[in-house]
Amino acid sequence: MSIKDISRAKSAELYEKAKTYFPGGVNSPVRAFKSVYGTPLFIEKGNGSHIWDADGNEFIDFCCSWGPLILGHANAAIIEKVTEVMQKGMSFGAPTALENELAELILSNNKFIKKIRFTSSGTEAVMSAIRLARGYTKRDKILKFEGCYHGHSDSLLVKAGSGLVTFGETSSAGVPVAFANETIVVSLDDTNALDNAFAEFKDQIAAVIIEPIPANNGLLLQSREYLQYLRDICTQNGTLLIFDEVISGFRVGFEGAAGVYGIQPDIITYGKIIGGGLPVGAYGASAEVMDHISPVGSVYQAGTLSGNPVAMAAGIAQLKQLLKPGFYENLNATTAAFVTDIRQYADGKGYPVKLFTIGSIFWFAFTDQESISTAEQIDPNGMVKFKEMHRELLNRGVYMGPSGYEVGFISSAHTAADLETTKTAIFDSLDIVFK
Ligand SMILES: *Cc1c(COP(=O)(O)O)cnc(C)c1O
Repeated sequence: MSIKDISRAKSAELYEKAKTYFPGGVNSPVRAFKSVYGTPLFIEKGNGSHIWDADGNEFIDFCCSWGPLILGHANAAIIEKVTEVMQKGMSFGAPTALENELAELILSNNKFIKKIRFTSSGTEAVMSAIRLARGYTKRDKILKFEGCYHGHSDSLLVKAGSGLVTFGETSSAGVPVAFANETIVVSLDDTNALDNAFAEFKDQIAAVIIEPIPANNGLLLQSREYLQYLRDICTQNGTLLIFDEVISGFRVGFEGAAGVYGIQPDIITYGKIIGGGLPVGAYGASAEVMDHISPVGSVYQAGTLSGNPVAMAAGIAQLKQLLKPGFYENLNATTAAFVTDIRQYADGKGYPVKLFTIGSIFWFAFTDQESISTAEQIDPNGMVKFKEMHRELLNRGVYMGPSGYEVGFISSAHTAADLETTKTAIFDSLDIVFK
């Protein structure tokens, strides 16, 4: 049964004010709740798996800041380490031992990269990885996939154009057509499209970039065979393969998707979890590839706040906890059980909704299809159902990212009780959506 909407009076007031300061009242577009019901919630605090908004509503949080918070909010060890480090100064623009410590933690537990460079966001990491690939191969074109997101740099705000194999079209005003002309866009899970692209642009493609676990436009899981095909075709053509693991890195396992699928990319980008909730991105590769970066190499890349000590401290405190034995096994098993229960409920009722999952990521797809591996397979009409569900879930104290194209995350702070409460809220919400 539908229940009363939560009060959003304070959030609405803050939002009106914010609209006078920021375009659309926000500093990142999806936060504006354009795809779901009502005014965006202004969050006041978080603790563990729970968040509270400005009106005092409490929620179990499955957005987790869009992925970084794999240990939940205000993790005690992260707070302790960050507090200790920040007392000694916030930034020096000079090397610190903390950068070595985070790098050591990563490189000694990840066989897929040998050297790393820290940036301040995922976008920056990807942008730099693309430049590195171009500098390394001395080629200009890159190939990306429809349905993968790689941040907001010009070369990657490009979507599929018309025709079988074409240059992309810009997906944002302000991106020069000349940039889009260097970016080839093809469908996921389609080896023919890859063959055609490599035939048409022989010896011109510097890099192929993919989210090996595409999780920014639904969860479009690819087969290992497909990813291996991609690996092989890149090798045959002297093209670098970039795994954009800004979401999947440290999420599906410490070694990310490269570890899960056992595939060695040429460059890997990280973000989100790596910074423990503070702004950190990174890209890594073999020493040979990485040494093309300045100051040793000719590919320029820099950052005033890159390797910031406070951000490094948060990353160190977070990643250390992820390395504890059983961390991923437990989190992934918890997620699998949660998803199975919801799928069973929905299937039992005959509701056309499926949950797709890997690691501690899940996605609600309002569809009858048993699998979805390309952006084209997503039914836009399903988003209307998601919007209804989102409202019902908020009213029942469950916060999901405000778009049906976004995935949900489970953190180690989610308790069995949280997940039971959430399942009940989801069952009741689905009953309303499909009544
Ligand atoms: C979030 C994300 C980015 C962009 O990272 P920001 O820190 O938001 O700039 C890039 N690639 C992928 C796969 C992401 O999920």
